[in-house]
Amino acid sequence: MNAGTIRQQIMAVLKEGEWGVRELSQRLGVAEKDVITHLPYVQRSLAGSGTPLVIREAFCWACGFTFKGRGRFTRPGRCPRCRRTRIEPPAFHVA
Ligand SMILES: [Zn+2]
Repeated sequence: MNAGTIRQQIMAVLKEGEWGVRELSQRLGVAEKDVITHLPYVQRSLAGSGTPLVIREAFCWACGFTFKGRGRFTRPGRCPRCRRTRIEPPAFHVA
């Protein structure tokens, strides 16, 4: 698959539901790091088409801390509040 095809497929899947990088990787058969590489382009292209990418921010299972406004697609390594590493990665969908 070329980059454009992958991006179109990511957009199509994001219209079906909310997914994290791992789920997108599994559904599309694309490496997680490639999904992370493509997401900023997908986000820009969606913003231009009037159906913006919605990000459910990563949060900490231990203390409930939400990584608000982080604006990144990767999973945070550690909670800044309680220092634990049980972090739910961010998830994405198209409204
Ligand atoms: Zn925490």
